Amino acid sequence: MKDFSYLRANSVDAARQAAALPGAMLLAGGTTLVDLAKCGVAEPDTMVDITHLKGLDRITVDDGGAMIGALAKMSSVADHAAIKSRFPAVSEALWQAASAQLRNMATIGGNLMQRTRCPYFRDPANFPACNKRTPRSGCSAIGGVTRGHAVLGTSEACIATYPGDLATALVAFDATVHLGDRQVAVDDFFLLPGATPDREHAIAPGEVITAISIPASAAAQRSTYLKIRDRQSYEFAAASAAVGI
Ligand SMILES: Cc1cc2nc3c(=O)[nH]c(=O)nc-3n(C[C@H](O)[C@H](O)[C@H](O)COP(=O)(O)OP(=O)(O)OC[C@H]3O[C@@H](n4cnc5c(N)ncnc54)[C@H](O)[C@@H]3O)c2cc1C
Ligand code: SF4
Repeated sequence: MKDFSYLRANSVDAARQAAALPGAMLLAGGTTLVDLAKCGVAEPDTMVDITHLKGLDRITVDDGGAMIGALAKMSSVADHAAIKSRFPAVSEALWQAASAQLRNMATIGGNLMQRTRCPYFRDPANFPACNKRTPRSGCSAIGGVTRGHAVLGTSEACIATYPGDLATALVAFDATVHLGDRQVAVDDFFLLPGATPDREHAIAPGEVITAISIPASAAAQRSTYLKIRDRQSYEFAAASAAVGI
């Protein structure tokens, strides 16, 4: 793992300025970033710690919808009474993601910014060809073992799948990503690979996700989240058994 400097931001503006410097990356819960740094995919010169920014962990819900701060923990959002009653699919998507320990650390902003779990992407020592990691280096998955890779939304450059749960529910309810004053529909925030799979999100250097908003709707209130997977964690299996599903 490459050495890096650590900088603690004390305001959103300071975080923006620091994040705009070459080689800087924002650090929230660290559950993705530290993993990627350890396997050599992320090589930040500076980690800009935003975990102490005040107010960015706020969750408010009213008749118009929900506003969820970027630093709200996945577990806090999943367990929020009004999110559970007005946006059940959002709460369920978060409950079914990762593990309890990760959900207690991981933030909503970091969740939106997580990277693909393509095994070739996460193993630069053995698979140097990966257009998402190193533009124009090729794709180790195409022509290789591709169980778990995408069949829709692919390109000749990349066939990786999107890894997150929350974004799927947010797209269904027309949610918006707030980058300070700029706002982007969640649907437009996630980019298809096309010829530039290295660009996964419609965010510019120096921009910070400050919140997501979800408009209230009858569909959101009557929603549920169904996750299909090879293997179900003991925790969720036990909870399901306890409520008889
Ligand atoms: C073992 C494991 C299993 C997992 N399983 C699932 C799963 O089933 N479903 C699922 O959805 N997720 C899953 N995840 C991913 C997990 O949800 C993410 O790691 C987590 O949400 C990232 O949040 P974080 O706060 O730790 O982000 P960090 O690791 O701190 O940051 C991640 C990225 O986001 C950037 N970033 C962070 N905050 C901001 C911000 N406010 N503005 C702009 N950029 C920002 C960082 O610079 C970095 O690039 C899993 C992770 C692990 C390790
Ligand atoms: S599928 Fe995408 S992420 Fe995986 S090796 Fe190919 S270019 Fe890289």
